[in-house]
Amino acid sequence: MVDPLRVCARCGTLPHGDACPACAAPARLVDAPPDDDGGYWVRVEAALRCDRCKLLTPVDGVDVGERYRCAHCDYEQDVLVDSFAEGLREAHGVGDLAWPPPDGRHPDPDCPLPDDLPQRVAIGGPAAALLWADGGVRMTVRVGCPLCARCAAPLRAHTAAGKTLVRCDACGARDVYTLPERHAETLAGALLEAWRARDADEPAPRPVTVVREGARVLTLRCPQCGGALDAPDSARVVCPYCATVCAVEAPLQRHFAEREVATAPLWLRFKGPSPARLALQKTLAPALARARKRARKDALRAQPPVARAPQRAKRSPPPSAPAEGGNATPLWVIPLVVAAVAAALMALGR
Ligand SMILES: [Zn+2]
Ligand SMILES: [Zn+2]
Ligand SMILES: [Zn+2]
Ligand SMILES: [Zn+2]
Repeated sequence: MVDPLRVCARCGTLPHGDACPACAAPARLVDAPPDDDGGYWVRVEAALRCDRCKLLTPVDGVDVGERYRCAHCDYEQDVLVDSFAEGLREAHGVGDLAWPPPDGRHPDPDCPLPDDLPQRVAIGGPAAALLWADGGVRMTVRVGCPLCARCAAPLRAHTAAGKTLVRCDACGARDVYTLPERHAETLAGALLEAWRARDADEPAPRPVTVVREGARVLTLRCPQCGGALDAPDSARVVCPYCATVCAVEAPLQRHFAEREVATAPLWLRFKGPSPARLALQKTLAPALARARKRARKDALRAQPPVARAPQRAKRSPPPSAPAEGGNATPLWVIPLVVAAVAAALMALGR
């Protein structure tokens, strides 16, 4: 059984000590109870690094095309799609291996993991994040639990047959996210607006009101009540004043992001042991088994003969033909005899 995760009350990620390295919020933590289906969440900020200006363009989902346009300098370049997929597998590894200590989500008592596991060191460190980079793909991976968009309580989730039901026990909000078949091998689910099932009677999100000064975007406001929406970083924002669901286009989400900060955090859900764990076990298990066998042998040898004798009797079946003269001399007696003889000889020689 996994203990509740104590996460930042503002962004849902695992803190370091009492502070939140992800959102720099002051120390306020909430308990996110484990989900009964064994699923777990990882927050990924994925970005693509521009070959020309070296700045990062956030990735809005998990479907990256083969080409993308830099948000800063408009330069068009290739995406290493395989690198991106590898990053998602890495994220699975972080969620599985890093929390809870010592051995994460799927501990194997026969195969304890090394203390200096990079995933564990990174999540337990001051940044509480694993930074992963390959080719032009950059990912910042954190462990945590997504929070309700309306009331900020930790969300509960259950994934079955590619559908993840996400609910908020505090305010009753519910959503279902359907995982496209092509991601079934990598993910259990993800909180992506594009994957969210919409109720037939649910009003479509209304585009935010953009307040401009000339060409410059000053602020975004709720289309219903005019309330200011501060720096939205996702496609769907719930107005904190009137609960209207507002749609935010990707360029507007990015507009408020600091230049080098990869925003648009993706909440990805995983179930089961990660590829990273399976690979580790494959490497570690044979060596551990050998070491254990050796240790067992050593322990047996070190045991005093009285303790050892009954164990032996239990283990080996009785010999079919009784040894000559009743009991055969046990092997352990020989070194004792040798030692005794040597001691007697030394005593004589003195
Ligand atoms: Zn936070
Ligand atoms: Zn660029
Ligand atoms: Zn809620
Ligand atoms: Zn409003």
